[in-house]
Amino acid sequence: MTSHEIRRHFLDFFQSKQHLIVQSAPLVAKNDPTLMFNNSGMAQFKDFFLGNGTPPSKRVADTQKCLRVSGKHNDLEDVGFDTYHHTMFEMLGNWSFGDYFKKEAITWAWELLTDVYKLPKDRLYVSVFEGDKKDNVPFDQEAFDLWKPIVGEDRIIYGNKKDNFWEMGDTGPCGPCSEIHVDLRSPEEVAQTPGKSLVNADHPQVVEIWNLVFMQFNRKADGSLEPLPARHVDTGMGFERLCMAIQGKKSNYDTDVFTGTIRVIEELSGKAYGGTMDKADVAMRVIADHIRAVSFAISDGLVPSNAKAGYVIRRILRRAIRYGYSYLNLTEPFMTKLVPTLAQQFADVFPELNAQRDFVATVIREEEISFLRTLGTGLGRLDQIISDLDGKGTKEIPGETVFELNDTFGFPADLTALIAREKGLTIDEAGFQKALQEQKARSRKDATSTAGDWIDVNETDRVEFVGYDQPEAYTHIVKYRKI
Ligand code: ATP
Ligand code: MG
Ligand code: MG
Ligand code: MG
Repeated sequence: MTSHEIRRHFLDFFQSKQHLIVQSAPLVAKNDPTLMFNNSGMAQFKDFFLGNGTPPSKRVADTQKCLRVSGKHNDLEDVGFDTYHHTMFEMLGNWSFGDYFKKEAITWAWELLTDVYKLPKDRLYVSVFEGDKKDNVPFDQEAFDLWKPIVGEDRIIYGNKKDNFWEMGDTGPCGPCSEIHVDLRSPEEVAQTPGKSLVNADHPQVVEIWNLVFMQFNRKADGSLEPLPARHVDTGMGFERLCMAIQGKKSNYDTDVFTGTIRVIEELSGKAYGGTMDKADVAMRVIADHIRAVSFAISDGLVPSNAKAGYVIRRILRRAIRYGYSYLNLTEPFMTKLVPTLAQQFADVFPELNAQRDFVATVIREEEISFLRTLGTGLGRLDQIISDLDGKGTKEIPGETVFELNDTFGFPADLTALIAREKGLTIDEAGFQKALQEQKARSRKDATSTAGDWIDVNETDRVEFVGYDQPEAYTHIVKYRKI
C-alpha cells in the first residue's frame, strides 16, 4: 500500500463512519497564545472541548501537519538519530465531540488496523491507564473491558499517568488514554524477547502508533475531578509510523514518504543512503526531515527570521544545512532543490506547498546562500576555539564565545551545542543568554533594528494565516477532496 493509499483509507474509513473530513490547520498555531506550532491533531479543536464554539460536526477526522520542536513536545534532538521521531509529521485523527465514546473509538481503531490495513494482530499491544491513587484518578476499567475480548488480557499493558493520562492543563478537560503499539521486529527477535516488555522502552521497532484519548473528567481548581457532562474522543496516529508498519519497513525513512527526497539527496551528494548510524546517513535523515518542517512552515505563512517562531524555522534550516555541509560535502545551496519533489508529492493533500513552491524554494535558497557564506569560516573558528579549550583542559565553551559565533557567523546556540556535543563538549547556555540580553539592551539603547531579517515578525509572532480563501468561521474546513 502506498502512503497515499494509507492516508486515503484512513479518511475513507472514518467518512464511512459518518465523520466530516476537514483540512489540516496551518503548522503555525493561530489565535492560541499558549502554542507556537500545532503539535497535535486536537489543537485546532481545543475550543470545542472547552465548550467554546460549536464544532462543524460531532464527528470529525483529518490529517494534521504537526511540528514538535518547542515547548512540551520537543523531538528535535532525536531526529536523524532515531527512525520514528520527526520534527514535522502528519497526525491522523478522529474526534467525537460529545458523541460516541470508548466503545466505538476502540472497535474502529482495531477494525481499521487489522481489517483495512491488515496489520498482524499478534504484533499489536494496547495500553490502558492503570489509575493513580495519589491523584485520585481511577483505573480505566471501561477501556480494559472493551480491549480484553478483542486482544486478550496478555496483550494489554498498564500505563502510568505520564503515558496514559491526558490533561489540557492544571484545570479543565482530562481523561485516560489507550495507546496502540506495534512490534515490527523479525520473528527471531520476537522469539528471544517478548514484544510486551519492549513497549514504551524506546525500542526502534516496537513503537507507539496510535493514541486514543478519552476525555471524561473536568479537573477543578481544587484538584478534584468531576465527570464531564459531554464526553469526547480525541485520537492521534503517526502517519509515517503507520506507513512503516504497513509497508513492513524498519524505519520511517524507508517508506515512500521519505524515499523520494532521500533519492534527490543521494543524487546531490553522490553518496548512497545506507540507513546506518554513520554521520552521512544521519545527515540524510536530518535533511529529509527538516526540509519538510521548513517547507511546510513557509508555505503556511512563516518565514525564517530572527525572532520567535521564525527563528525556530531558521534554526531548523541551519541545522540541516550544516549537516549537509559537514557530512555530505554539500557546500552549495541544496535544501532549495528538494522543494519540488516535496511539493509534487503532497500536491493533493497539502496543495498550499505546491501552490507556493517557487516562493518556498526562493526563501530557502536565499537563507542558504546567506548562511553558507559564513558557515565555513564559522566552523573554522569553532575548531580553533575547541582546540584552544583542549589546551586549557576545559570542556565548556564560554557563553561569550557562543554569543560571538551567533552574532558573527549566524550559528544559533543549539547548533554550536550540537557541534560541541559531537566533540564531547558542552556550552555555557546561561552565559550565552546573558551576553544575548546585554546585546539586546545595547541595541534597544541604540534603537537600531535587527539586521539580517527578511521580515519583521510582529510583537507576538502570531502570523496570520492567509493561505485559504474560504469565508470566515471555519476557514480551514473544506469538503472532503478525493486524494
Ligand atoms: P512518543 O512516545 O513516541 O514520543 P507521544 O506519546 O509523544 O509519542 P502522542 O502525543 O501520543 O505521541 O501523539 C500521537 C501519535 O503521534 C503517537 O502515537 C505517534 O504515532 C505520533 N508521533 C508523536 N510524536 C511524533 C514525532 N515526533 N514524529 C512522528 N510521529 C510522532
Ligand atoms: Mg513524544
Ligand atoms: Mg508516548
Ligand atoms: Mg502517546
